[in-house]
This record gives sequence, structure tokens and C-alpha cells, in this order.
Amino acid sequence: MKIVIVGAGQAAASMAARLRAKGHGGEITVIGAEPAAPYQRPPLSKAYLLGQMGLDRLMLRSPEWWDDQNIPLRLDEVAQAIDPVRRVVTTDKEEVGYDALALTTGASARRLPAAMGGDLPSVHAIRSLADVDALAPQMRAGRRLIVIGGGYIGLEAAAVARKLDLTVTLIEAAPRILGRVAAAETADMIRALHLAHGVQILEGTGISRITGSDHATGVALNDGRELPADLIVTGIGVLPETALAQSAGLALDNGIATDALGRTSDPAIWAAGDCASFPWQDNQLRLESVGNAIDMAEAVADNMLGADKPYQPKPWFWSDQFDAKLQIAGLGTGHDRIVTRAGDGQHGGSVWYFRDGRLIAVDALNDARAYMIGKRLIEAGRSPDPDAISTAPDLKALLA
Ligand code: NAP
Repeated sequence: MKIVIVGAGQAAASMAARLRAKGHGGEITVIGAEPAAPYQRPPLSKAYLLGQMGLDRLMLRSPEWWDDQNIPLRLDEVAQAIDPVRRVVTTDKEEVGYDALALTTGASARRLPAAMGGDLPSVHAIRSLADVDALAPQMRAGRRLIVIGGGYIGLEAAAVARKLDLTVTLIEAAPRILGRVAAAETADMIRALHLAHGVQILEGTGISRITGSDHATGVALNDGRELPADLIVTGIGVLPETALAQSAGLALDNGIATDALGRTSDPAIWAAGDCASFPWQDNQLRLESVGNAIDMAEAVADNMLGADKPYQPKPWFWSDQFDAKLQIAGLGTGHDRIVTRAGDGQHGGSVWYFRDGRLIAVDALNDARAYMIGKRLIEAGRSPDPDAISTAPDLKALLA
């Protein structure tokens, strides 16, 4: 069986490694549009942007590993079309035939439209290595940075910039930061952390455009104010890369729709990672996280080889900001009750999400113990008494 993987990110690397580990001796080819071999994205907005991590450590596997595994990487090559009848991928270089095809095309950063100044030099997204290689040299002490978007990308970039001694203003259009991904109680802890480190945060503040004609000079706000800046980072979300799947006639539903095994509407084509949605509680769920990219890719690899085992996600996330670590287990979507527990240090504590009395997620800031205990409870399908969470002298009692 000849397997072709389109998209050379984390999901592709995990899938290829798993296929070999499970004994697939046939051809595996990875096609990727970026010039770099598969690398880790999480450090791009953290240690790599800060200059504390080199390119070699960013790489998921060494060049020798790909050679040893006999997995050719076709990099800097753009897959342009799929012919599902002939089972051929057409790239900008040639046609590549497959018996089984996996789409691990990921997601790309949403950008502000050119009409709003989104294409001006000194406006930076953080998604690819090339994005960060362009941004990092601009992050110099004393410069004024405006971050647009208060999700993880924006907050992590703001934290790095303050460490590098830039002046930082973060603008969030929604009423509060982390609106899409976390409860207000978690956002409160993260906001306090940033304010303590000198980040100015403007919430409920829309922008009308980025100012400047040949380069960005600042931001014009909807309320008429103008804020000056030397550079701008946008962290306004990502869009799943579905164009290739769509042009091949595959079903889409919040990304490339797969069944529980990770198979798309074409039985010879699979999908995994940020680009793919899978059945979850009567919906198609799409997770944007490295944990899901790894786990779903491995599940799909197993199923390509006949395991016939539905993918069971175990969502977890983390974020490093300043010297604080936020760890998240589970998915808080649809919660109807929040319980908080104070942590030991100044910036720390945990936020526990319940739905219908069931524990569904825990956010823990500088509180590895709360994360670990919450994760174990969620994965075991166990729900502690919500009232005991804030009062128990030792959280471990919840596991009893
Ligand atoms: P995100 O989590 O979707 O956050 C984007 C934020 O920007 C949202 O709060 C959004 O508000 C806001 N926004 C959108 N348009 C705006 C505008 N015109 N002006 C001001 N604010 C605006 O996405 P992200 O932070 O860009 O991250 C991209 C992806 O990488 C996500 O999947 C994220 O989870 C992932 N990531 C994860 C980590 C981690 O786990 N540590 C770190 C970095 C990135 P609305 O929701 O109201 O649109």
C-alpha cells in the first residue's frame, strides 16, 4: 500500500512515525508546502520567538531519521489537486499516485484584510517558521508593539515582547481576552498576570484599521482613538486548510469531515489534526491543538492499517506566559457551573468546569497538582463534589 501524506506538520510526522512503528513497510511520502521539514509549532510563540530555542530543537525529527525510515519529504511542493478516481495528487511539480491518502494540511492564520492595512510591512502573524523568522528580529527593546487579538497567540507574543522589554498594548475586540477558549475566571488570572508585567490590555475594543501607507504606524480604534506602534502582531484565530479537500469533493463540516475512524467521505482518503473534524457528542468537533494533532494522526495511522478503532480525544492544552504555566485538561464548552480553587503563589489557582454535574475541564495556572488530579478525574469519567474542590485541604482527597 502506497501512502501519501499531504501537509508536513506535527500530524504528518506523528502519522508517518506510527505507520512505520506499526510495521507498514510500503511507501510513505510526505508532501509539504513549507520549505522546512516537520517542526514543532508551539515554541514559535514562546521560546523560539524569545531566541531561547534554536532551529535544531524545533525540528521534530532529524534529516537522518527521515532517511533511515525511508520516508521521502517532498518539501516546498504545493499539492494543488486530488483526483479521487485515479488516486493521484497533483502538485506544482508532478503527479503523485496513492493507494491511501492522508490530509494533514493544518490551519492557517486569519489575517486582517488589505483594506484594513493587514498586508502592510511590520504587521506579523505567528503561525509558520517563516512568520517568526520575520518577526523575531523586529522585537527589539524599547519598540512599541500592538498585539491584535487576546487568544493564546496574542498573549504569548505579548509576554515574550515584555521579556524583551518592548512596550506592549494588547487589543481584544470581544468583551474579554480568551473568550473562545476559557472561562472568565481563567481570563481574570491571565489578565492579572499580564497587567503585573506591564502589558496594557484593551478589551471590548475593535479596530477600524492599521494606520500607515508604506508600513504600519499604529492602529485606529473604532472609538476614534489612534495608538502609535512600531510593529503589530495579529493573533486573530486560524482557519482550517480545506481548499484541497473541497476541490476534491470531500465533505466538509467545520473542517474536513471524518468519521470516527478518521476517514473522509472518500474511503481512500483520511484526515487528521487541525484541518479535520470528527464525531463528538452529536457534532463534528475540530480541535486546534498539538495534542490532538499527535493523537488523531496516530489513531488514523492505526486505522489505515486496519485497526478499526474509533478516535477518542483526550483534550489537553498548555500555554507559557512570563514564568507562569497554564495547563488545561478537557473541554469546557457548554459548562453550566464554574468552581475555583486558590493556588499557592501570587499568580495561580485552578478553574473547574461542570456540565450537568459532570466535571468536563480544568484550567490550572501554576498548579500542576490541580491539573494532574483534574485530568485523571476527567479521563476516568469521575466527577467530584464541586463544593469540595474549593474547601478540600488536599486536592488528592478528590481521587479517593
Ligand atoms: P484564537 O484562540 O481564536 O484567539 C483569537 C482572538 O482574537 C479571539 O479572542 C478573537 O475574538 C480575537 N479577534 C478576532 N478578530 C479580532 C480583531 N479584528 N480585533 C481584535 N481581536 C480579534 O486564536 P489565536 O490566539 O490566534 O491562536 C491560533 C491558534 O493557535 C488557536 O488554535 C490556538 O488555540 C492555537 N495556539 C495555541 C496555543 C496554546 O495552546 N498554548 C498557543 C498559541 C496558539 P473573537 O473570538 O471574538 O473573534
